[in-house]
Amino acid sequence: MHFGYILAMDVLQEYFPTKSIKRAEMRLSAILYKEQARLDKIALDLNTDKAINQGNLLVELPFIIDFTASYHQAFMDYLKAALPQHQVKIKCGPNCGNCCHHYPMSIAPFELISLYSKIRESDLLFTYMNDCFFRVEQFQALLGQYEHQKENEYQDVEEMALHSFFEASHACPFIKKDASCEVYPFRPVTCRMYFSETEPKYCVPEFLQTSFNRSFIVYLPDAIEEAIEEISKHYEGLNLSESLYEGLMQMNALEGNIFYGAV
Ligand code: SF4
Repeated sequence: MHFGYILAMDVLQEYFPTKSIKRAEMRLSAILYKEQARLDKIALDLNTDKAINQGNLLVELPFIIDFTASYHQAFMDYLKAALPQHQVKIKCGPNCGNCCHHYPMSIAPFELISLYSKIRESDLLFTYMNDCFFRVEQFQALLGQYEHQKENEYQDVEEMALHSFFEASHACPFIKKDASCEVYPFRPVTCRMYFSETEPKYCVPEFLQTSFNRSFIVYLPDAIEEAIEEISKHYEGLNLSESLYEGLMQMNALEGNIFYGAV
């Protein structure tokens, strides 16, 4: 899995292994190891190599939600340990939401499932799905356009589409009028890892990737990312997208099968 969905200046920083960093990494590893073992056991009992399927997702849902919450909390602890190592204080604050105009990618399947299980309780579910549909259509159109215009193999069509999507300024369906996030406790790691050392007014398309804007992503250590990838493999039978909006739409399409047992 890669998290590089956002077009940041993307300063890749190696963190000094302080006690708090090591503790945070160990906690993340322990949570992921435990979940991997749990899913491996389910797969073994099912006599397959994928633990989660449409038939058992509802039964597994509380465990998936619990695991995702623990993973998110452990990631926040990792941030707490890592961010003080940046020499410049981050300028991100409440009521900004500028980075909530990107097209979020690299969402782990268990994050999608947890988030969807939350928003499906909302009266706004239909609106959310419509908004997701619109954004997926826009993004697909951009991908098609750049694929068509591509001049050589070095051009990264997805990156070009991500950039144009951000320029079009489609706010995330979950952003509220005061720029706070409607699903804040359930937002995926992709939404938690992006920071700016410069004022929020520079986190807009005209300043992104210029010297005015210094944004960065807090990446997890490779071993942790690999562990997340391994866990995600247990969800492959669901065929969920790594895109937030597309993945939520897919979950919505499975609604009857999963939540009302139509499989
Ligand atoms: S889910 Fe929340 S934090 Fe993530 S992009 Fe949407 S509004 Fe922003």
